[in-house]
Amino acid sequence: MSNCCKNKTTTTTVTPSKLTIALCGNPNSGKTTLFNILTGSNQKVGNWPGVTVEQKLGSYKKDSSITIVDTPGIYSLSPFTIDEQIAHKYLMEGKPDLVINIVDSTNLERNLFLTSQLMELDVPVVVALNMQDEAKAKGIYINKDILEGYFGCAFFAISAAKNQGIDQLMDYCIAGSYQSKTHFAYTTPVEDAIAKLQPLTDALDNKRWVSLKLAEKDKTIIKMLNLEDSQKQLITSTYNNLKEQLGDIVSAQIAQQRYEQISAIVAKAQTVDRKGVKTEKAQHITEQIDKIVLNKWLAFPIFALIMSLVFVVSIGTLGGFLTDLINEQLTPWMQDVVNGWFENANVEWLRSLVVDGIIAGVMGVVGFVPQIMLLFGFIAILEASGYMSRIAFITDKLLNKIGLGGRSFVSMILGCGCSVPAIMATRTIKNINERNATITLTPFMPCSAKLAIISSFTTYILGGNALFAISFYFLSILSVILGGLIMKVFNRKKTNASDTFIMELPTYRAPTPANVLKQMWERGKSFLIKAGTIIFTASVILWLVQSFNFRFEFVNDANDSILAGIGKLIAPLFAPLGFNDGGYGWQYSVATLTGLAAKEVVVSTLEILLPNGLTGTISGLGAYSFVVYNLLTVPCVAAISASFTEQGNWKNGLKSVAFQLVTAYVVSLAIYQLGSLANKYTAEFVIVVSLIAIAFALYFAIRYMIRHRGCNYECDHCPHNETCTRDDRK
Ligand code: GDP
Ligand code: MG
Repeated sequence: MSNCCKNKTTTTTVTPSKLTIALCGNPNSGKTTLFNILTGSNQKVGNWPGVTVEQKLGSYKKDSSITIVDTPGIYSLSPFTIDEQIAHKYLMEGKPDLVINIVDSTNLERNLFLTSQLMELDVPVVVALNMQDEAKAKGIYINKDILEGYFGCAFFAISAAKNQGIDQLMDYCIAGSYQSKTHFAYTTPVEDAIAKLQPLTDALDNKRWVSLKLAEKDKTIIKMLNLEDSQKQLITSTYNNLKEQLGDIVSAQIAQQRYEQISAIVAKAQTVDRKGVKTEKAQHITEQIDKIVLNKWLAFPIFALIMSLVFVVSIGTLGGFLTDLINEQLTPWMQDVVNGWFENANVEWLRSLVVDGIIAGVMGVVGFVPQIMLLFGFIAILEASGYMSRIAFITDKLLNKIGLGGRSFVSMILGCGCSVPAIMATRTIKNINERNATITLTPFMPCSAKLAIISSFTTYILGGNALFAISFYFLSILSVILGGLIMKVFNRKKTNASDTFIMELPTYRAPTPANVLKQMWERGKSFLIKAGTIIFTASVILWLVQSFNFRFEFVNDANDSILAGIGKLIAPLFAPLGFNDGGYGWQYSVATLTGLAAKEVVVSTLEILLPNGLTGTISGLGAYSFVVYNLLTVPCVAAISASFTEQGNWKNGLKSVAFQLVTAYVVSLAIYQLGSLANKYTAEFVIVVSLIAIAFALYFAIRYMIRHRGCNYECDHCPHNETCTRDDRK
């Protein structure tokens, strides 16, 4: 090991003003936690990989001329997934003045792989050995002097979650005089190849890294260079001429040498003293919990139970109580007060605009803030504790069957908050079909805005029964599964190998109350901001189109308004879904359109158009079908545009939109029509449905038997495997 590093003793000096510091490290190493402390911002922190998908900028709390950049988590600089490419490209092109490499001290060996690659770049690096608290608890001690000896650059021991050691780290970063780093040396063939490439790469930034990649015959690095296309072409052709002389260097060989050197360094720098260590206890507890929650039979029932409890409390009992307080006390009180002001003034239109338009529309949405904040409080707890990672883990295998994977699950859960970040989070998915399917299916999840629709209908029409609210979530999940299967059939021939999902399961951690409260507040705040802007504007426009007729005369009966005209035009389309079964078909039809602006607007539209509220305006079955339609149909414009941009071409974007519209229509139609039939002919209906089900089962059973005539083998051991025509052949 003694000659593994080339030592340089120079220092790099950077002017302190306008410093850009990038945070870079493995997923789940604490980058976002540190970013939040440094900038005072509230980026989402999750105890799983893939939560930060593009770099976020913020300015340092104590000195606003310093910019901090949070980059996506990466295990290495060899980019496979889109987020790895983003991080790599940023380091190559973005030219930060300094990189803080965040290392999870409890996983030193794996984290130093990236560190060793960062050493090959031309940017100064400081390493923050994070999670010191946890490392200490696990009996892990890291001698940072030894690490500094090998890597050259400065190492700091910190704990981002406990805000320890961060000031010393930042003082060093700001002082601007950085210890120079040293890179690993490789075996002679590799170093020779790098030397041969020197004339080609000498003028480039990050020349050692570029040479190394080219020596591995990885030409994609040329694309990453910050150069004109013509220059890149020149480099490619020169490289092609040189290639023969480089010898046969395999990237696996280089990675292997890296691992060996790191192993040797870690063996010297790290001591682990497991005797009487408290965390063995934490680890032990984690293992005990996992035995139960990851159990083959118990995992899903436990998940369903936990989610049901969360919904009962946040939508039903506590959340429902708070929402009622707003909708039944605060809103009528506000309307009374404003009505009082207008009592003697002769401006009926203004009173109507404020009371029936703005207050009804905006407060109809504000009422759901307590439920949404509670729900997101619980989700924050599940995320931060590490339980969500388990769920992603156990769902991965299952999701593979429908052409998705554990990473899609991460998107789905994010989608319960908002489809926009959820769609962006699909960048961590390598397989293009899986990614597009996830983008199309994620909006089926009930985002926080749709929660307003779910809870208002559950409260006012479906008798306040939390079971209905839960059933909508299960229906969403079912639609994702069926949608995934359908898309898998369409994509069958195009599918390449599925993306293997590697996720480490973090030890369970107690969530910090501050972080949970912060996320609740963030969610509530963005909801209120939306209420004050989009929903306010939409309410005013809606009031206008429902208060005037096509001749721009003020009308007292909304039935004569412009909006009614449009609504009645599209209402027949929705009649088969049951929207008209209380005689308010056009109002319900219009609400599905205005929901394009934002899903909360569905509720505020109905608040404005139905003068006496939802109660009695639609049957229970019609209401159920209406909610389902709005859950599954195209999301709001913000999410639609994210879907188009992320899929990178408008054809796929349109396909997603069509898929969502058709699914929503067909599922709602089926629910309403089958439900009506069941209502009318209870006994006959049950018999017919059973007969159809039996016919299907028979058909598939017979087909299976015909195909398997004479074959009693399990697929894995079957001698006919090559010639077998079974669809599900493994
Ligand atoms: P990122 O993926 O690198 O952005 O990581 P996050 O900032 O999202 O953090 C991942 C998890 O590690 C979260 O649950 C954090 O609360 C936790 N975490 C971050 N820093 C520390 C630390 O210093 N000590 C402990 N015990 N946990 C930490
Ligand atoms: Mg992050």
